[in-house]
Amino acid sequence: MNYRPGRIFMSAPHLGGHEKNYVQKALDDNWVSTSGPNLPGLEHDICQHTNARHAVVLNTGTAALHLALRLLDIKPGDEVLCPTFAPVASVNPILYLGAIPVFVESEANTWNMCPETLEQAIKARLETGHKPACIVVVHLYGMPARLNELLQVAEQYGILVVEDAAEALGSRYGGHQVGTFGKMGTFSFGGNKIITTSGGGALITEDAALAERALYLSTEAQYPTLYDAHEQISYNYRLSNISAGIGRGQIEVLEKRIKERREVYNFYKDHLSDTGLQFIPEPKNCFSNRWLTTVLLDPEQSKSPKEIIAALEEHNIEAGPLWKPLHLQPLFQNSPYYGDGLSKGLVERGLCLPSGSSLTEEELRKVVQVLRNALT
Ligand SMILES: *Cc1c(COP(=O)(O)O)cnc(C)c1O
Repeated sequence: MNYRPGRIFMSAPHLGGHEKNYVQKALDDNWVSTSGPNLPGLEHDICQHTNARHAVVLNTGTAALHLALRLLDIKPGDEVLCPTFAPVASVNPILYLGAIPVFVESEANTWNMCPETLEQAIKARLETGHKPACIVVVHLYGMPARLNELLQVAEQYGILVVEDAAEALGSRYGGHQVGTFGKMGTFSFGGNKIITTSGGGALITEDAALAERALYLSTEAQYPTLYDAHEQISYNYRLSNISAGIGRGQIEVLEKRIKERREVYNFYKDHLSDTGLQFIPEPKNCFSNRWLTTVLLDPEQSKSPKEIIAALEEHNIEAGPLWKPLHLQPLFQNSPYYGDGLSKGLVERGLCLPSGSSLTEEELRKVVQVLRNALT
């Protein structure tokens, strides 16, 4: 990543202030390990915040998703339905298990998995004799997917759902926290997410047995007694107690960070709507944490997102393209895809603006000014 002094980042870490108390205590008490009191502490905080019954903190969001799919017993050759409009991190865990992603296109309102296309995809796979093994739903850029409709389709065909809520901690659908709708939900605390542990993630679930198995498999399947047999593949996926300490400080300010990110979105909307830039409103039932503010260029705009991003870069401002649809990536050229190509069209017109909660009004004004110049 480019770093020049004074740079305006897309999504920088934003400390709350108490992180160092938790970290200092961990150092003082010699809990410099993947065990220690900050781990159950952070798990408790996550449950409190999301209303989930169980949480297991892990060393990345990718690890959380990998474990979730493993716990659903996804095997080599299984087909897993997933969005094409998502980061590769949402789909890599499917590959780790030797399973096959089956891509489902998004719908225009939320940019997330389209329930109607999901049903078409399931029907088509059933016709080929493959019953999909599970569905991964992603809440892109913080916007909740249409969970009611998606879950209804999933239930109708008896397929379990995992929510990749890595970008959407604190977002709500119908008043409930995302991540709590599926059989399991996963979060990321990577450095650019709404809160960070410098690297980390979590798995949440209502199911005590799944949570217990997640903990067990994430800590190399350590049995209480020595000399017991290992019967399953396990992982070293536990979060460190130091990182969990950062997380405890961060979660204290999560609500504040959501409010601040939403204010960033509103600032851009208030100051740029007359330029033809299109903003993505929250559909009914959806409350977005506005992790990133995304916009679509006016169809009349002659410049491409790439040119606009380069113009911002000249002023030391980091902006980015939307996720390139995965079914167009070489890695997935043999994977089935269902849809009408919506996400390809979005990517041709869309970009992510600097959205961090620590951006000052002065910085936001600078982004607006540079962007206005670039657009005309
Ligand atoms: C960031 C992200 C992940 C991966 O999380 P890491 O903590 O970086 O491993 C997975 N899915 C989505 C949608 C993400 O944005």
